[in-house]
Amino acid sequence: MTRMIGTSAKALDDYFTDWEGYVFGFGYGTGEHHVIPALRRFLELTPEAEAYRFEVLERELGAAVAWLFINILAGDDIIEYGTSARYAWLTSKGKRLRKFMLSKSADDLIALTGRYEDYDVCYPDACNCGPNGYQKGRLCQNPFFLEKFDEDSFEASLRASIEVGAKAPSDESHPVEDSA
Ligand SMILES: [Zn+2]
Repeated sequence: MTRMIGTSAKALDDYFTDWEGYVFGFGYGTGEHHVIPALRRFLELTPEAEAYRFEVLERELGAAVAWLFINILAGDDIIEYGTSARYAWLTSKGKRLRKFMLSKSADDLIALTGRYEDYDVCYPDACNCGPNGYQKGRLCQNPFFLEKFDEDSFEASLRASIEVGAKAPSDESHPVEDSA
């Protein structure tokens, strides 16, 4: 199970599952194998604290992929910019997403997508993981949905996620949920 005992209702892995499903939810087990490695690469090419250069993204990812990501990530406030999205930088939640995605392999990230059975999905406007399940008006405490977030708490969740990942063999092809 991926539930984590602690202050947050879900583990960071789960919050990534929800973010990916909300922003890129139409891969159906096929698209993710293309989208996730490219998105991971996009974030790798975007410095943590300064603007990316669109020329680099175009060269490394192909112009169409680069600009599709720029459009989608600007729409979800993962990146922001001054006068032109040709040179944009990561928002706070974008920096968290970058740290999380770069802490895992593309295969590990793909395994976190497309979880529907026995999994309570949360959305920016509908949280199902509160103490009493769904509660009208409650915001999911997802560090990839919320721009304002306790960074110490995020860093602690990230370390926990990396430790769990280190214990599980990375060549495991069905790490999403145990079958119990
Ligand atoms: Zn939630």
